Amino acid sequence: MQLYLYDNWERQLRLFTPLRHDWIGLYCCGPTVYDYAHIGNLRTYLFEDLLRRTLEFNGHVVRHVINITDVGHLVSDADEGEDKMEKGSRKAGESAWDIAERFTVAFTSDLNSLNMLPPTIWCKATDHIAEQIDFIAAIEQKGFTYITSDGVYFDTSQQEDYGYLARLNRDGIEGGKRVELGEKKHATDFALWKFSPADEQRQMEWDSPWGRGFPGWHIECSAMASKYLEPWFDIHCGGEDHIAIHHSNEIAQNQACHGTRLANYWMHGYFLQIDAGKMSKSSGDFLRLQTLIDQQVDPLAYRFLCLSAHYRSQMNFSWDALEAAQTALGRLRDTYFALPEGGKADSSYVTRFHTEINQDLNVPKALVVMWEVLKSTLNDADKKATLNQFDRVLGLDLANWQPAVLTIPDEVQALAERRRLSRLNKNWAESDALRTEIQGLGYEVEDTAGGMHIRKA
Ligand SMILES: [Zn+2]
Repeated sequence: MQLYLYDNWERQLRLFTPLRHDWIGLYCCGPTVYDYAHIGNLRTYLFEDLLRRTLEFNGHVVRHVINITDVGHLVSDADEGEDKMEKGSRKAGESAWDIAERFTVAFTSDLNSLNMLPPTIWCKATDHIAEQIDFIAAIEQKGFTYITSDGVYFDTSQQEDYGYLARLNRDGIEGGKRVELGEKKHATDFALWKFSPADEQRQMEWDSPWGRGFPGWHIECSAMASKYLEPWFDIHCGGEDHIAIHHSNEIAQNQACHGTRLANYWMHGYFLQIDAGKMSKSSGDFLRLQTLIDQQVDPLAYRFLCLSAHYRSQMNFSWDALEAAQTALGRLRDTYFALPEGGKADSSYVTRFHTEINQDLNVPKALVVMWEVLKSTLNDADKKATLNQFDRVLGLDLANWQPAVLTIPDEVQALAERRRLSRLNKNWAESDALRTEIQGLGYEVEDTAGGMHIRKA
C-alpha cells in the first residue's frame, strides 16, 4: 500500500519512496538535557514514534537515531547567550556532566512511560567531538567558514538556497537588520565552533585545530546523522520550531560538506497549546509528564490524547480534554480486556485502518475505524485480533493492560455480607440502608446474575 508523508522541504504530500532497500534512515533531534522535557516536547516525540511504527507497519526496517544534546546549545538558538548546560549546572549546583546524566535518564524514562519504541541508536554530542571537528574541517576546506575572535562561523552568503526549508526571506532579514551582528558577516551566519571565553573556565571544552572550545549546536546533528545513517538518508524529524534555524543550518552544513540536503523528507511535529487558564493546576513553570502522573493521569492517556489530533495541527491541551481521553482509554481497555483470544484479524478493517495511517499518519480517522470495529458484527475474538494489529501503530499497549485488582476492606466486605443476608430474607429496608452505608465508605455494590459485585464508587 502506498504511503504518503508531508515533506516540509517541498511543502506537500509526497509518495514515500525509500532510498535503500534494506533500511529506512530516520533521524530525530533529541532533547537538550539541562531540564525536564515538557509535554509539548513529548508530543513531538510521540509523533515521531507514530511515524516509526507506521513505517514498520508498512514492512520497513527502520534505523532510528535520536541524539542527546549535552553541549553547545546556547540560550538563544541563534548563538547568543550562554550554554544551556553550563547555565543549568550553575542553577542546580551540580556539574554539567551530572545534569546531563540526570536529565537524560528522566527523558528516557518519559519515553518509556509513553510506550515509545527505543531508538536503534542513542548518540550524545559529547561522545562525538572528533566527528564534529572533522565535519567542520571539511566545511572549512571547501571555503564556507570564517573565523572571528569568538569562534568559527559558517558563511551563509555562499549558498544560493540557504534557508529554503524555512522559505527564508534573506533580503528581508539583512535589510531590516535589527540584530547585533558583532563580528558575524551576515545575520544568518552561525557558529560551528565556539572558543572558550578567556576569562572563564568551562566544564565542557575540548582542543580543536582552531583553539580550545566547544561545538555549535547544529553541527552535532549533521555529524551524527551522517555517521549513523548516511549524508543522504530518508527522513529527518523535529519540532516546528527547528525549521527556521536548526534544520536550516543542518542542511547548510551538509550542502557544504556532502552536497546533499541531508534528508529526503523533512517532517515536523506541531506545537501543543496550553490552556493558560488551567495552568494553575500545575505547580511548576511548565507541565511535564510527572505533573500529569501526580494528578492520577495514566501517561498512556496523554498518548491517547495526542493521537486524537493530527500531528500537523496545533493541539490545545486542557485538563478536561485529558480527563476525557483517560475515560475513553479506560473504556477501550475494559472492552478489549473482556474480548476472548484466538481470533483472526479482519482484513477489510485492517486495510481501512492502514489506508488512513498511510495518508500522512491520519490517526484521528484511523481511530474512527477502531471504534467501528468494536461496534461491528465481527465475532469477539476477531475484534480483539483486529485491535492487536491496530495497536502496533497506536502503541497503547492494550495486550499488556490488566484491570487493577481491588482489595475490598474487611469492613465493606462484612457490610456487603450482611446486605446479602437481608436480601435473602427480603428485608429490603435493611438492604437499602446497608447499601447507603457501603456507599458512605466509597464503594458500590451491584447485584448481577452471577452474584454480588463490589467496586470502588
Ligand atoms: Zn538536530
